[in-house]
Amino acid sequence: MSKLIALISIIVRKNMKVTILLTAIFAITLGLNYNGVVELQRIFAGVETRFVYAEDIKDPAKYFKSFHSAESEKVIMFKKPAPESVPFDIIIIHICSLSWDDLKEIGMTQEDPFFKQFDYLFTNFNSATGYSGPAVTRLLNSNCGQKPHDELLKKTPDKACLLIDSLSSVGYETYLSMNHDGKYGDFTKNIKKNVSTDTKFLYPENLNPSATFFDEKTSLFDDYAMLKRWFDLRQASNAKMTSLYYNTITMHAGSHWVGEKKWFDKDTHEQYKDVLSALLKDLNKFIELIKSSKRNTVLIFISEHGRALTGTAFQAADLRDIPLPKITKVPVGIKFIGPKFNDASVKQYLITKPTSYIAVSWVLSDFIKKSPFGNTAESPDDIVFKIPETKYVSEHEGRIIEEIDGSYLYYGKNRKWITLTPEQLK
Ligand SMILES: [Zn+2]
Repeated sequence: MSKLIALISIIVRKNMKVTILLTAIFAITLGLNYNGVVELQRIFAGVETRFVYAEDIKDPAKYFKSFHSAESEKVIMFKKPAPESVPFDIIIIHICSLSWDDLKEIGMTQEDPFFKQFDYLFTNFNSATGYSGPAVTRLLNSNCGQKPHDELLKKTPDKACLLIDSLSSVGYETYLSMNHDGKYGDFTKNIKKNVSTDTKFLYPENLNPSATFFDEKTSLFDDYAMLKRWFDLRQASNAKMTSLYYNTITMHAGSHWVGEKKWFDKDTHEQYKDVLSALLKDLNKFIELIKSSKRNTVLIFISEHGRALTGTAFQAADLRDIPLPKITKVPVGIKFIGPKFNDASVKQYLITKPTSYIAVSWVLSDFIKKSPFGNTAESPDDIVFKIPETKYVSEHEGRIIEEIDGSYLYYGKNRKWITLTPEQLK
C-alpha cells in the first residue's frame, strides 16, 4: 500500500509541471485572472469546492453569458397522450401591444373580471422583446430556453424548439390564423419557418375590414369573425384534437377603425381603452361560443409586448427599441373550457415567479400528459410549483435589459452597462 502511495506521489510530482501548464491553459481559456488561477488550483487540490450561483454573478456581462448558457440547455419534450387520456383542443391568442403597465395606465388591473376568468394567471411573464416579429418567433420556439436575439433570425430553427411542430407530432391538427394578411414585416414568412409543414393557414378572405393598420395599407379584420371561421372549420373536422395559433394586431399604435375620423387627434389613452374593450368583448363572445360546443379546450391568452402607452425618462411613448420591463411584462392567462369547468366558479392560481415562453410549452406538455379534463389531472399547486422560472433578460438588436438582485441594468449602443433609476423605469 505504501509503495502504491509512493508511486502515485512520484507520478503527481513528475506531472506537476504538466498540471500547472494545463491549469494555466484552462485559466486562459476561461479568461480568469491570477486570483482565478489560484482558486482553480485550490479546487484541483481538493482543498475547497466553490459553487457559483446566478445570484453571485454581479458582473452584468458575465450574467448575460451565464443566462444564455443555462437557457441553451433547456428543452421541453412532448409525448403522445395515453389512449385513455381525455382529449382537448388548444387555442393560443397572441395579442400585439398589451402590457400590465398599459393596463394600469387605463385603470385596469388583474382584478378585472376578464382576467379573473383565467384558471392560471401569470403576473410576472417577460415577453423578452418589444416587437411583434421576435415575440412570435419566441412563442413558436417556446419548447427551448430563451435564445439570444440574433439567433431568432436563423434560417432554419431547431425542430426540437418548435411548439406547433410538437403539437402536430403528438396528434394535433394544427391551424394558424390572424386578423390581417400577414404581409407586413414578412410576418407570415417568418411564421411559416416556425410551424409544422402540415399547419393549415386561415387568412381573412371575403370579409369587410373593420380597421386599418398604422401603415395605412394593411386591412384589419374583426377578431370574432375570424375566430368564428376557425371554429366552424374545427366543428366540421373529425380530428380528436386541434390547435389554433391566432394573432391580432388591432391594438397596435396607429391602428384605427374604418371610417373613424381624426383618429390621430384622439387621446391615446381613450383610443386604447376603446380598442381593448372591443377585443375583450370579442374574446368573451368567442369563449362563450366554445363553451356552447361543450368541447374541452385550453385557451391561452398571451400578449406579444406592450404598447408603451406612456414613455419614461429613458424612452418616449410609442417607442419600443429598448425593451424596458414596463413594455415586456405582459399578461398571460390560461383558461379551461369544457363541461367540467363551464359552470364551476373559477379558483384562480397566480404565477408570480419570473417566467417566459418556455412556461407555455411546459404547461401544455404537462396537460397533454395529465389531461386537466380527466380524473388524473395534476393538482394546480403542483403545476404552479413546477412551472419553470426564467430570469428577467430582454433584448432587441443589441439593446439588453436584465434584472440582477432587483436592479435593472441596461446595455445599449455605447456598449456600457448602466443601472437604470426608478425614474428611467417608470
Ligand atoms: Zn406586436
